[in-house]
Amino acid sequence: MSVEWVSQGRVNLLGLSRPELEAFVASIGSKPFRARQLMQWIYGRGESRFEAMTDLAKDFRALLAERAEIRAPEIVTTQRSADGTRKWLLRADATQAIEMVFIPEEGRGTLCISSQVGCALDCSFCSTAQQGFNRNLTTAEIVGQVWLAARELERDFVPAPESSPGQRPITNIVLMGMGEPLANFRNVVPALRVFTDDFGFDISRRRVTLSTSGLVPQIYRLAEEGNVALAVSLHAPTDELRNTLVPINRKHPIAELLEACWHYLDEQNGRSVTFEYVMLEGVNDQPEHARGLVRLLKGHPAKLNLIPFNPFPGTHYRRSSAATIQRFRDELLSHGVLATVRRTRGDDIDAACGQLAGRVQDRTTVRLGNKLIGVAVQS
Ligand code: SAH
Repeated sequence: MSVEWVSQGRVNLLGLSRPELEAFVASIGSKPFRARQLMQWIYGRGESRFEAMTDLAKDFRALLAERAEIRAPEIVTTQRSADGTRKWLLRADATQAIEMVFIPEEGRGTLCISSQVGCALDCSFCSTAQQGFNRNLTTAEIVGQVWLAARELERDFVPAPESSPGQRPITNIVLMGMGEPLANFRNVVPALRVFTDDFGFDISRRRVTLSTSGLVPQIYRLAEEGNVALAVSLHAPTDELRNTLVPINRKHPIAELLEACWHYLDEQNGRSVTFEYVMLEGVNDQPEHARGLVRLLKGHPAKLNLIPFNPFPGTHYRRSSAATIQRFRDELLSHGVLATVRRTRGDDIDAACGQLAGRVQDRTTVRLGNKLIGVAVQS
């Protein structure tokens, strides 16, 4: 159990994976199996009040109320797009905020969450990088995002007619918001456990995706300890170019990165790795780049996800044209490399990168991360 929760007086149960919750429950003199009952209340029903958990003994509830709490991040603003996309700005502390996005589609709903306040990795096309690194989110803040979104969404959720009984609005979780999840390994891994736990959010491990800029040693660690799908921000077919876009490449070049990815799939029995590729006009969007990707990925269990660049104030990059992106995709497909193009959603609520910060800043004193990359789906 991490010290930060205990030191706040009450233990925030959203920060504990099942074994940790069992240990906590035992530490206050109850049977470990009570942890599962508690989790059903917390994650199955979205309950935060111990007194409402009526099948737990009264004394136990009283003790929980004294020693524990269920506290998610506080909502600063909520926005809703005409296409159903929702965006929440959540308070991280007095001056910082993080973002979370929900993207509904036919028969599925994807929640994009953050793992850090800011980011230390300095990718040149990413607006979070401009903000610098502030701090890691705690496990409770990572799990709390999903818990909060589930509660908010379930209020007015109408399941699709053909969906299975008990269908909930969030079917997929992606760690593609602010931050580098593998740089916050210690807090992210227990959160992944809660997402996939039968008594947690009970989401299939293939429907939880962690996206990394390529922290190679942590990919090996994740192969041992994690249990989710992997996405990797590739963005360039050569080290020379990738060094300029994703500086961590100087430390962990492409060949090492790909080796780690294939190892991950072997260990996890995974189907494929998704490689994200931001389309930057005149930088990485030419046929030679597509051919370079073919050389790297052909014959491997890989899918490319082409992301039209979202500009933000101060950037010198431009988004590749739709025609260029289409040609790029065709080139990949014609050589047998799977590729999809991410479709931007929620434009009417300024959900693209860099659009959010200014507006909210005008209304509040909160200094915000100016990055929102989650509002995109594969087409
Ligand atoms: N740090 C992790 C996860 C967060 S970013 C990572 O790097 O993978 C999620 C995706 O959005 C990454 O592929 C990232 O490179 C991409 N991205 C960042 N800035 C972007 C921008 N301005 N336009 C489009 N995609 C961007």
